Amino acid sequence: MRPRIAVVGSGPAGLAFARVMHRHGHPVTVLERDASRDARPPGGTLDLHEGLGQLALKKAGLLARFRALSRPEGQAMRILDTDGTVLRDWRPRPDEQANPEIDRGQLRDLLLGPLDVQWGRAVTKVVPDSPGGVLVHCADGRQESYDLVIGADGGWSRVRAAVSTATPQYTGVTTVETSLDDIDTRHPGLARLVGDGSVAVYGVNRALVAQRSSGGHVKVYARFRGPEDWHTGPDWHTGLDWHTGPDGHADRDQHADRDLSPTGAGKQAETEAVRSSLLAQFDGWAAPVLDLLRHGTAFVPRPLYVLPVAHTWTHVPGVTLLGDAAHLMPPLGAGANLAMLDGAELAESIAAAPGPGSGPGDLDRTVRAFEEKMWARAGKWASITTAGLERLVSPDPSQALALFDEVQP
Ligand SMILES: Cc1cc2nc3c(=O)[nH]c(=O)nc-3n(C[C@H](O)[C@H](O)[C@H](O)COP(=O)(O)OP(=O)(O)OC[C@H]3O[C@@H](n4cnc5c(N)ncnc54)[C@H](O)[C@@H]3O)c2cc1C
Repeated sequence: MRPRIAVVGSGPAGLAFARVMHRHGHPVTVLERDASRDARPPGGTLDLHEGLGQLALKKAGLLARFRALSRPEGQAMRILDTDGTVLRDWRPRPDEQANPEIDRGQLRDLLLGPLDVQWGRAVTKVVPDSPGGVLVHCADGRQESYDLVIGADGGWSRVRAAVSTATPQYTGVTTVETSLDDIDTRHPGLARLVGDGSVAVYGVNRALVAQRSSGGHVKVYARFRGPEDWHTGPDWHTGLDWHTGPDGHADRDQHADRDLSPTGAGKQAETEAVRSSLLAQFDGWAAPVLDLLRHGTAFVPRPLYVLPVAHTWTHVPGVTLLGDAAHLMPPLGAGANLAMLDGAELAESIAAAPGPGSGPGDLDRTVRAFEEKMWARAGKWASITTAGLERLVSPDPSQALALFDEVQP
């Protein structure tokens, strides 16, 4: 009999898993907390590496469609000094396919395709070794049993508690995100500054990065060392309204969009208070660079959290984790890539395992072997990105430039 499999979360990890399973003729249940596919803005742009995210798309049979949608020119990268001097201006060859960019929303739609996601199904608890299999509790009061439950529910995973006691820890670095729309028409000077891809400016313990998505949309990330509760600072009275999870716990999902400002009358005033606070943080930087903050719309805080670098767990039959749920690391271009490859590889392994007649022991052996492989790869990337964050938000800004020179082709 075909195993009953549920994947919790429809981010890059969960969708890659479900899509590859679907390709192999094994539909799985996808339980997603969001009320619908458009419940929140999908976010900015992602670069998908040839040997990671693109490999996952190949396994899903979606590489050609990715190539048609992606932006190789988005790999362009410019680095400025805080006085606006251009230090590096790297442009990819027109056919460069190493890390093309794609909008997060386009990627989600590509992976979703024919999948039948159960929206509005927030999982609150997973109980392994229950009568009938692994018991999944949902916030809607329903309980369901599966042979395998896969936690692809992000850094603040609810499934993780079934296998591990690890929780994300604050890195000491906070990012505040803002956006510019229609940049080519509204802010042509900033459009030239950002170019086709990204511009980054590194100062002492802080950085400003702007990244172009399609349609003239630009995301700006102000990154600095500061307290975890920077967003509840004295300049605004409401502080941050963390998305509250279905069981009442604060959920610090890094992708939940949370405007720092309240809605209603005070919104504009508080947006301006956050803007002033950020401009003070970056005081003395070149005026065109600061214009990225001056023209930004709403501000969204993203304190950066990580799981321990080599996060592993004692295997629990019937439950596993993928992506950020297993290996949340600094957002330096690897997380979504790894999440997708995790999902695609696990799906391929399960699909290739012995067919009808195989027992739960076979499924378990497949999952266990996958975990070993995922841990080794994720541990390597967690070390790289953790060291990278130290150098990109460093007391010595020349470290960021040196890192760029080390990794750029
Ligand atoms: C600002 C920023 C920029 C980034 N840029 C890049 C980049 O350029 N390249 C890159 O590779 N990575 C990047 N990352 C990292 C990347 O976004 C993550 O590593 C990736 O999204 C992880 O995918 P995931 O599927 O594991 O988790 P997520 O994307 O977090 O998806 C988890 C899903 O699970 C759902 N969920 C959560 N809890 C529950 C629950 N209890 N029940 C049901 N569903 C639930 C969520 O709603 C969500 O849909 C960036 C991250 C940030 C914050």
